[in-house]
Amino acid sequence: MAFVSAPAALRTGAPAKAVTSVGSSSSAFAASSRRVQAPVAAAAAAPSGVVMQATATAKKSIKDLTAADLAGKRVLVRCDLNVPLDGKTITDDTRIRASIPTIEYLTAAGAKVLLSSHLGRPKSGPEDKFSLAPVASRLSELLKKDVKMAPDCIGDGVAEIVGGMKNGDVTLLENVRFYKEETANDTEFAKKLAANADMFVNDAFGTAHRAHGSTAGVTEFLRPSVAGLLLEKELEYLAGAVSNPKRPFAAIVGGSKVSSKIGVIESMLDKVDKLIIVGGMVFTFLKARGLSTGSSLVEDDKIDLAKELEEIAAKKGVKIILPVDVVAADKFAPDANTQLVSVEAIPEGTMGLDQGPKSTELINSELADCKTVLWNGPAGVFEFDAFAKGTYAIANTLAEVTANGATTIIGGGDSVAAVEKAGLAEKMSHISTGGGASLELLEGKVLPGVAALDDQ
Ligand code: AMP
Repeated sequence: MAFVSAPAALRTGAPAKAVTSVGSSSSAFAASSRRVQAPVAAAAAAPSGVVMQATATAKKSIKDLTAADLAGKRVLVRCDLNVPLDGKTITDDTRIRASIPTIEYLTAAGAKVLLSSHLGRPKSGPEDKFSLAPVASRLSELLKKDVKMAPDCIGDGVAEIVGGMKNGDVTLLENVRFYKEETANDTEFAKKLAANADMFVNDAFGTAHRAHGSTAGVTEFLRPSVAGLLLEKELEYLAGAVSNPKRPFAAIVGGSKVSSKIGVIESMLDKVDKLIIVGGMVFTFLKARGLSTGSSLVEDDKIDLAKELEEIAAKKGVKIILPVDVVAADKFAPDANTQLVSVEAIPEGTMGLDQGPKSTELINSELADCKTVLWNGPAGVFEFDAFAKGTYAIANTLAEVTANGATTIIGGGDSVAAVEKAGLAEKMSHISTGGGASLELLEGKVLPGVAALDDQ
């Protein structure tokens, strides 16, 4: 499938926006054997077809199904409803809201929707504090319809509830991790999970890098098995846009250590025109260039690797950009004494905890002509206000280049937190909802929860 590289059409921002913009007009699903017409915003949010990194195999999505494929069908939908709870109170419902477009798409088509998810890490068997019941209440509010909470995810009790469901009804199955067979991807468990459904939709990007019963195992027993709108959109950006970028394409890779981002850096060296290194890993690269780094974070056993990566970049014609100045602190603390220094003059006994203004200026000028920018990892210890400027400056610059027509992709983890804290989430082309899954996808790995879905 062709990746649609029109940022304005694709820019949907935070999932909350999708919730309000995806209608549930059933008229779009008037009985027809043609392809289901997606509600307008959902169609814009995720171009049809799903690209899989590394294999280039296109995967089917719910938009490839016809109204006849969905009406009256019992559809098992794996969502990522693993929300933070304070007792029984949901403290952040982002993941629930991110799941709404797919649920509305299916209910509007007359499907009977069975939602499944994990929540937390139950040790052995059911634990009330990990019940998904609070999520069912929030889903009812967001969908404006009663969402029934099943007492289990498998078994006769579930079968009875499903037997009583009408077209367009939604039932939430209880936490799949109440069974240890879920993470073991046990075939018998997956079979029981699949027993109450006719087909499968995976919309849980955050767990797509895990081969579990509810993400991969069930696909052995349910056909079709297709991607939901959220999963499709994540793949369109993190695999599609990254593999077929509008150029120039820059990746900003930051965070604490080179060791945790080697895979992403290596994979990006095959794709980008510019690689901007920021954050703690900068100092291993600076030391590899022969500079003194004071007491900054350096992985001595990765210095040769940093040299190698620079050599590979030079051979491939990829420009590596490193900060030119840093905020040097006398200790790792929010109230540390700081000084602004050139990377060539980091004083002994001080550590670089943020990039300086000249680095920000350099990065801004390098990004100005870019048509695609991927960002993964903060530029400093942004958890402390004193060292957050560089990270927020990058977030602001990305908001600007997006407004100027570039596609910007925030690839999970701390950079997502920084963009959200800066109130700029709506201004980016795509903010990933997955941490580990985004990293693995950017490293070029195949995600088992995607691999298991039907090919187009
Ligand atoms: P990661 O999980 O690898 O993306 O790393 C994120 C962490 O990197 C954040 O907690 C930041 O505080 C940390 N970090 C960023 N810059 C630095 C730095 N210069 N020195 C130490 N830690 C840093």
